[in-house]
Amino acid sequence: MLDTRPAPLVQVEDLRMYFPIYTGILRRHTGNVKAVDGVSFSIQAGETLGLVGESGCGKSTVGRAMLRLYEPTGGRVVIDGDDVAHLPPEALRRKRPTMQMVFQDPQASLNPRMTLAQIISEPLDEHTDWSRDKKIERVHELMDQVGLNRRFINRYPHEFSGGQRQRIGIARALALNPRFIVCDEPIAALDVSIQAQVVNLLEDLQDRLGLTYLFISHDLSMVRHLADRVAVMYLGRIAELSPSADLYARPLHPYAEALLSAVNEPDPAIAARRKRIILKGDVPSPANPPVGCNFCTRCPKVMDICRQVKPDLVEVEPGRLVACHLFESRQAAGTTGAPEATERNQQGVSQ
Ligand code: SF4
Repeated sequence: MLDTRPAPLVQVEDLRMYFPIYTGILRRHTGNVKAVDGVSFSIQAGETLGLVGESGCGKSTVGRAMLRLYEPTGGRVVIDGDDVAHLPPEALRRKRPTMQMVFQDPQASLNPRMTLAQIISEPLDEHTDWSRDKKIERVHELMDQVGLNRRFINRYPHEFSGGQRQRIGIARALALNPRFIVCDEPIAALDVSIQAQVVNLLEDLQDRLGLTYLFISHDLSMVRHLADRVAVMYLGRIAELSPSADLYARPLHPYAEALLSAVNEPDPAIAARRKRIILKGDVPSPANPPVGCNFCTRCPKVMDICRQVKPDLVEVEPGRLVACHLFESRQAAGTTGAPEATERNQQGVSQ
């Protein structure tokens, strides 16, 4: 069938980010920490893709490698037509205004010796030759957009609350009119009472400015509220990528099922069906992941093949991608398949 959807704004293909391990007096290269190991997804313009998983699963590394804050080990990251992973330095510098990041810890990401005006206009200094007045005008405009009082323009970061500091970080990210923003746990360091305000601000800005987000978070309830689709990561790979409503109502991958079983469910019908799944064992080291499925050491539905062969991320229902041998024979077209999958799950459990 002809695909009539517009080309995605962001296309990530087989992204890998390995950190070398050096040991001994001679500092020999003896292995790699595979923080991101073959991650692929796309994001449509104006969409929010949530990227979730436990701490250490590689989700923040994906965001940083996409924007070349780390040099990716391999793969492609096409953002608005350019493969950012392979751009030469000057072309990358020119590309930077279109792709920005909002960091987790606003305290650490703002220079304490710079005023708010200096912080927000820093990208303008780097990428424009505007006059000082024009820059101040733009800083005022950005302060209005993120809800900061213009009277604060000459204050320093320590004079603001955590929520206000995150607004400064967002204003700085918006300074050059980006199309794509990686939000890396932007609310994790904030008080719960402030988190919703910052999330609402990000949503408002998306509507007004047509922004596209990769929203990285360990907070599954918040991602549900924000994201159109959600990718669940485990040990450097995507386990499931589904539309948000489908994932939260009926997760397919055993890891996604376990992760979501711990999330409060507002729908009483779904909550009644859901059983809490406690995973046993520890997450394996990314320096020595399993040969087969990365989740095979903890999966309650593990089969023999899981220990030998890594499952690919494949579309098992329209719009739903899962990396699990339980679903491999299912075709996206015309298969609803949940009962069949359940039956196969039961048959596939190793004794
Ligand atoms: Fe579990 Fe096997 Fe599926 Fe991995 S491939 S999630 S071990 S059933």
